Amino acid sequence: MKAMVLRRTGEPLVLDERPDPTPGTGQLLLAVKACAVCRTDIHVIDGDLPDIPVPIVPGHEIVGEVIAGGEGTDWQPGQRLGVPWLGYTCGTCPYCDSAQENLCDHARFTGYQIDGGFADKVIADARFCFPIDESYDAVEAAPLLCAGLIGYRSLTMAGDARHLGIYGFGAAAHIVCQIAVWQDRRVYAFTRPGDDTAQDFARELGAVWAGDSKQLPGHQLDAAIIFAPVGSLVPGALRAVRKGGIVVCGGIHMSDIPSFPYSILWGERTIRSVANLTRKDATEFLELAPRVPVHVHTVTYPLEQANEALADLREGRLSGAAVLIP
Ligand SMILES: [Zn+2]
Ligand SMILES: [Zn+2]
Repeated sequence: MKAMVLRRTGEPLVLDERPDPTPGTGQLLLAVKACAVCRTDIHVIDGDLPDIPVPIVPGHEIVGEVIAGGEGTDWQPGQRLGVPWLGYTCGTCPYCDSAQENLCDHARFTGYQIDGGFADKVIADARFCFPIDESYDAVEAAPLLCAGLIGYRSLTMAGDARHLGIYGFGAAAHIVCQIAVWQDRRVYAFTRPGDDTAQDFARELGAVWAGDSKQLPGHQLDAAIIFAPVGSLVPGALRAVRKGGIVVCGGIHMSDIPSFPYSILWGERTIRSVANLTRKDATEFLELAPRVPVHVHTVTYPLEQANEALADLREGRLSGAAVLIP
């Protein structure tokens, strides 16, 4: 098999040829058909996340077809499955016991602690694989596995907010925007100052307002979701939400949040983060997406050009999601 491997954090990925892995008990071997590129991959590569067990293959938005299964698995050859960020949970810790497996003390994550989908084959725990609706092809489905799932969990945390702000209009936001509009919410999209392309894209997807992250829209927000990994957006978002409103931080990593006056939190405003996903989120969202239906905008790259795809994402040169094809 071939894989784009992170040998040392801070370095570009390197193409590696290695023997095909054999699925162990409870595992499946999948032929990767597409794997989307997520900002979290950049955080893994840059070493922003702790204890990265290099060498590791990044990639946690995988659509693959089953080639083989280990003991205890039930599978069909060619069966199409999605593999998300959550790759393993212990099932016994207090979090797993209370429907919060996203917070499991012993969780392991695809493309971080488990070799991921920047490859032509991947091993996955069968309990953490999900069927993909046939209305999606592999490229279109791949970004649903993280941008979609984490976006959906973030949207859920925004409660029934009718006036919803979204900061950072990338892969997750473009999916969440479509669901929110379908749910009859009014979406306000905040982008990097001067990013007309992203603002036009947001309006095309149904946002009622799109502007710079430093602006305030004409209407107070009931909630805001921040997907950009930029802590300085938090005070601005707090200023944009009404009393009792919530600011949801959807990223796994964010630069430091600057100090701010208590008065902008006052009035029972809330700040919260969203961490990972549960299998329930995955099942719910993957059933919902084709009903909306969510259309996923993608830019494809051959697997060998993973570094170029990552650079384009890093520099904000993409509309929608980058997807690697082996
Ligand atoms: Zn991700
Ligand atoms: Zn657990």
